[in-house]
Amino acid sequence: MIKKLLLPTSLARRFSLLMVLFSTLGVFLVALLSYYEHVFEARSQAKSIAVDRTLTIVDAMETAASRESISRFIFSVAAQPSVEAIALVDAADRVILASRRSLQNTDVSELRGVIDEQWLEKTAAQDISTYWDERNIQAVVIAPIELVNPASSVIRDLQGGRLLFALDAEPHISSARYEAWFDAFWASSILVVMMLLVSWALQRDVTRPLERLYAQAQGPDNTCTISQYTTVGKVRELQALARAISDLADARFALGAEKQRLVDIADSIPGAVYEYRHHPDGKDEFLYFSEGINKQLGLNEELANLSSPADIGTKLFSLIEPEDHDVLAKETQAANFPVPNEWKAEFRVRSNGTIRWIWGHAIPIIDDQPGQLFRGVMLDITDRKELEKRLKLAATRDPLTGALNRAGIEPYLEVSLAGFHRSNHPMSLMLLDIDYFKSINDTFGHDIGDSVLSQLVSILRQRLRKTDRLARWGGEEFLVLLPDTDRDGAMMIAEKLRQIVERATFEHRETLTVSLGVTTVKPDDTIRTIVRRADDYLYQAKNEGRNRVKSES
Ligand code: GH3
Ligand code: MG
Ligand code: MG
Repeated sequence: MIKKLLLPTSLARRFSLLMVLFSTLGVFLVALLSYYEHVFEARSQAKSIAVDRTLTIVDAMETAASRESISRFIFSVAAQPSVEAIALVDAADRVILASRRSLQNTDVSELRGVIDEQWLEKTAAQDISTYWDERNIQAVVIAPIELVNPASSVIRDLQGGRLLFALDAEPHISSARYEAWFDAFWASSILVVMMLLVSWALQRDVTRPLERLYAQAQGPDNTCTISQYTTVGKVRELQALARAISDLADARFALGAEKQRLVDIADSIPGAVYEYRHHPDGKDEFLYFSEGINKQLGLNEELANLSSPADIGTKLFSLIEPEDHDVLAKETQAANFPVPNEWKAEFRVRSNGTIRWIWGHAIPIIDDQPGQLFRGVMLDITDRKELEKRLKLAATRDPLTGALNRAGIEPYLEVSLAGFHRSNHPMSLMLLDIDYFKSINDTFGHDIGDSVLSQLVSILRQRLRKTDRLARWGGEEFLVLLPDTDRDGAMMIAEKLRQIVERATFEHRETLTVSLGVTTVKPDDTIRTIVRRADDYLYQAKNEGRNRVKSES
């Protein structure tokens, strides 16, 4: 209970106690100041009255006609209120005249009863001296008797002596005390009222709202009321709160640093990280692009001045090659229907006059917003695409002549054959072999042989149609695919080719002839059967003397 009283638990109670303490201290100080002010004033008043009266006696002594008149004057002064004692003492410490007759013609020490001993022993200074006697509450004046007026010869025997004057200051001091307490009472009352007003205002506007706030912070499940907390508990609570705030600040700082780190990582990868939402109305809204969209994808000039992800997205879309738009639309459809799926596409972007290949890969993210959120990366795959192109070329082309190789012609053969099976489009095929090529090698060397092969390919190419495909089938044997061409057409072309070669001039400057086997597709054909048939006709042409075209009749 005592602890509870001494250590008030609620903020409001603690605050009230503080106010009471301050008020008490204030009242005490006001009373003290008022007391001393009045008492000191009363003391100096008493002293000045004493001095005044002393001076009137001294004046009277200057002009007195007889010792008797001085005596009378002293008696009249002594009759005034509060005068305790008046004594004229000669240089030999004898009391010549006094306010009481019984004290006259006695030693100064006889005045002990009315004036304190310490003042009786004091010799007069050159001027009037005033003393305060705290023990007897008296104002004591000691004035030197230095008579200059000859008329005062009546008291010549007092020359060099002193005048002792004692004023009873008790009435002054008591009225001063009374006034002091009276003033202190009013000042304190005003102070207390003011304090109460301030306290009431602070409680209403500060402490009570704070307490309510604190009570709310406790939560509805917490049954503890604020007043039940001990001060120590509250201090601990505040410490814990301060620690929590400090931890929170640290965590926020760490979070900021971590966020910056993630942004830096996203910005430094060789590509762009992005986020977009596919809205239910079918529109895609870009929400985030990492720095890489400018730097890494080579789109610097195009996108550098755009800051909002939506603007970057719109600009990026406008840079995509028109023929790739369908691919992207198809991918978007596949990524959203029937269920959210990965979005993957390779597309071309025209930037600064060059085409760049971009690979985009985004995965659907589940959130509670309408539409579908996607996050992914975009990488510049231009170099990879170029390499792929070169590899594809190397895999499908004969490096010596530039004609397709077997692998290169195969897809064309398949497409043509499928076209025939599907729509009955005719398709012919010829195999062409150089006659006695071995002897060219033998006579002119392998290099010349190579150059003859290249020359032959360019001659054949010039004569073939755009849709025809020429492939190097073996050493010096070539396959020509003639789509949408029937047997007659194929025979015509084959014959033309034979003649052109026969008339052409090659590096070895000798005539060169070729034999050709020609065939047209039949309903049950496969690529193998067609080629085999063409080969058979070629064999036939060789057998029949070379430099000729053979086909089914
Ligand atoms: P034919 O076809 O008229 O029966 O006689 P041929 O001399 O052409 O005989 P064959 O087709 O058997 O010979 C092919 C020759 O072609 C053999 C080989 O040395 C040569 N050859 C094959 N590939 C190349 C090549 O890439 N460069 C050169 N220079 N020669 C090649
Ligand atoms: Mg040959
Ligand atoms: Mg051959």
